[in-house]
Amino acid sequence: MPSDSALSIVWIYPDLLSTYGDQGNVLVLEQRAQRRGIEVETVYVRSADPVPETGDIYLIGGGEDRPQILAAQRLRRDGGLQRAIARGAAMLAVCAGYQIMGSTFGGEEGQPVDGIGLLDIASSRGPARAVGELVAEVDAALNLPTLTGFENHMGVTHLGPGVRPLSRTVAGVGNGDGFEGCYAGHVVGTYLHGPALARNPALADLLLSWRVGELAPLDDSRYEALRQERLSAVLSG
Ligand code: GLN
Repeated sequence: MPSDSALSIVWIYPDLLSTYGDQGNVLVLEQRAQRRGIEVETVYVRSADPVPETGDIYLIGGGEDRPQILAAQRLRRDGGLQRAIARGAAMLAVCAGYQIMGSTFGGEEGQPVDGIGLLDIASSRGPARAVGELVAEVDAALNLPTLTGFENHMGVTHLGPGVRPLSRTVAGVGNGDGFEGCYAGHVVGTYLHGPALARNPALADLLLSWRVGELAPLDDSRYEALRQERLSAVLSG
């Protein structure tokens, strides 16, 4: 029986979008909430099912071009995610999922495909596939440590005035303009896989804090070792 007080995490379309272990973002959020005594309830929404609009934090992952197009069509038709964000829900959208949040993105032949317009961004096919490690310094307003992850995408993303860049790229391609990802309100888009929240637990806590307020600190030494290993592998290479 769903409880009204539990934190509701919604993973969108595991059957279409979940490359590179992006579903791990769900596990990290769940664990970081539970380690603080916060009750969590996770809903996995397959693409044939409606997206609930009463969730707290929505997550969507990366994917190949065709499932990405299908996911965009279904989300547009469904409207549940759009209503959830209008009600104040938080969201982390990764790679293909990030592109879908914008007005348009490039399909498998580079053709423009409609997104769902939750973020003021437009994506298209870039000149070359961006593959490799990403390191980026986060917008000072968010007060987060350096982001680490890896990327694998053809798309480049142009940010409109309605969003702020999430971070400035130190290594890797990201949006393709020197920035990586963006955010507006409580919606964050990024090209980071890793999964992003395992590599960057402070980003997980930002999403959690947007819904539950101030959080007790956790012992992150295990995550920190992974972060430092990846950061030094890129920055010293
Ligand atoms: N199909 C998109 C692109 O190539 C997204 C890829 C991904 O999610 N890894 O840009």
